[in-house]
Amino acid sequence: MGEKYYKYVIVGGGVAAGYAAREFANLGLQPGELAIISKEAVAPYERPALSKAYLFPEGAARLPGFHVCVGSGGERLLPEWYTKKGIDLILGTEVVKADVASKTLTTAYGAVYKYGTTLVATGSTFIKLSDFGVPDADAHGIYYLREIKEADALVQAIKTKKDAVAVVVGGGYIGLELAAVLVLNKLKVTMVYPGPWCMPRLFTTHIASFYEGYYKAKGVTIVKGTVASGFETDQHGHVKLVKLKDGRELPADIVVVGVGARPVLAPFKGQLAEEKGGFKVDGFFKTNVPDVYAVGDVATFPLKLYSDTRRVEHVDHSRKSAIHAVQKCHSWFLPRICPLSYLWLHYYVETQRGWLSWLAWHPKFLWSQAIKAAEAGNSIPEYDYLPYFYSRSFDLSWQFYGDNVGEDVVFGRDNTTTQPKFGAYWIKDGKIVGAFLEGGTPEENKALAKLAKEQPTAPSKETLLAEGLNFALMT
Ligand code: FAD
Ligand code: NDP
Repeated sequence: MGEKYYKYVIVGGGVAAGYAAREFANLGLQPGELAIISKEAVAPYERPALSKAYLFPEGAARLPGFHVCVGSGGERLLPEWYTKKGIDLILGTEVVKADVASKTLTTAYGAVYKYGTTLVATGSTFIKLSDFGVPDADAHGIYYLREIKEADALVQAIKTKKDAVAVVVGGGYIGLELAAVLVLNKLKVTMVYPGPWCMPRLFTTHIASFYEGYYKAKGVTIVKGTVASGFETDQHGHVKLVKLKDGRELPADIVVVGVGARPVLAPFKGQLAEEKGGFKVDGFFKTNVPDVYAVGDVATFPLKLYSDTRRVEHVDHSRKSAIHAVQKCHSWFLPRICPLSYLWLHYYVETQRGWLSWLAWHPKFLWSQAIKAAEAGNSIPEYDYLPYFYSRSFDLSWQFYGDNVGEDVVFGRDNTTTQPKFGAYWIKDGKIVGAFLEGGTPEENKALAKLAKEQPTAPSKETLLAEGLNFALMT
């Protein structure tokens, strides 16, 4: 089999791949320059739909309805779009080997592709209970969710097992979103998680108590402080019982597991520098190897706002990181048309941040660039991300911006399970660094984002409690 060359190859065909492809096309792409090689059989789509509308009993979302970039209000990139742009979508194809020295990618079918520049966008995969050594964790009827094929299997199970009893293992994003859609499908649901409350990495006990109360009111039974330690199956190898570590046993026709994800590093493992479980990149998503970029869930990037490095497993970052890695220049015309005004603009903006940062931004002194910017000899600012997470279930919808570190102040919680609007601020070193809101309007959520970005000095806890959401709206 011969080798085929592409100027750009995106490895992985998920959210980041789709947004990167759009950015490449926007910036000018010759037919045959770009290929996406994806293990999945379909063109890039908005993965968040899989744990929400895809599983609805009525009016369920189906492709082509949620191909990227509809999740951010953009154009829907149907498979024909890629053809029209001359982008090769190589689907249902796993890259099993990458050699960054010879710039080659080998697929499971033995095909070899050579690249000029590659973008690693392989995302994450679910952690399995068998990874923890839980026996019988691969029995029929035990489901995980990452890709459309798993969502289809779950839809089928829900359809064939009417009035079934379901156990959801895990109290994170998957656990909470899946428990809700299973209830909507009229299943009897029990959730099991090890922590003292759900979503402990983000929620405080006060925030979690609202959601736990709301879920209980919807009929969900919650079992905390223990984990699934084994399963019992029937004569066909189908799950019928979940055994818990504390000795309890839960009958189950369907088990859905959401106990975390891990980034997919495999084909590049050992060839790219790693940090915090992902591939270490700079503020332009460049890895330590020339012409290899990494974006989305697999990238550990500098989070300027906190002078830290992070890996983020959420869709907003996957979209923005992909766009940033491809970017050309935010204002490329200005230095060419009017160099003086360009310099003046930099002077004006950067004197407020210091001359050192001006030097870092100026093309002459720039160390590193995103793909198209590097080709054009342009400069772009480093990625400057404000962490943003959200979730939706039942009639609920929350958003979080910033960092959930330091002291928390929860406002508007009246200890009822029907209160649809409440929030929280996180205060560190006297500044507000994180903000959470359930039931916010777009304007209110925008105010929260602004607050988390600007990090104003926090007033007293009492003032924050009294002002609640108004503090964000007035700042
Ligand atoms: P992915 O979108 O996971 O794409 C990776 C792609 O690479 C996949 O197509 C995979 O098959 C492919 N691939 C992997 N290895 C190879 C290989 N060796 N060769 C070829 N292809 C390969 N985030 C939110 O902020 N809000 C939400 O509501 C939300 N809901 C979610 C619901 C579900 C069910 C899941 C699983 C995740 C959800 N997320 C959500 C997280 C969000 O979807 C991810 O952070 C985002 O998809 C990451 O984008 P990515 O492109 O890095 O990876
Ligand atoms: P999460 O990390 O969100 O949650 C995993 C949960 O499982 C945690 O509560 C964890 O508890 C718990 N857990 C760990 N081990 C066990 C065990 N042995 N038995 C029972 N519970 C256990 O991962 P998810 O699986 O929920 O999500 C997978 C990926 O999908 C993530 O990348 C996530 O970001 C993404 N996703 C995002 C969504 C969103 O942003 N709205 C929606 C759906 C998925 P502890 O924390 O105490 O370890």
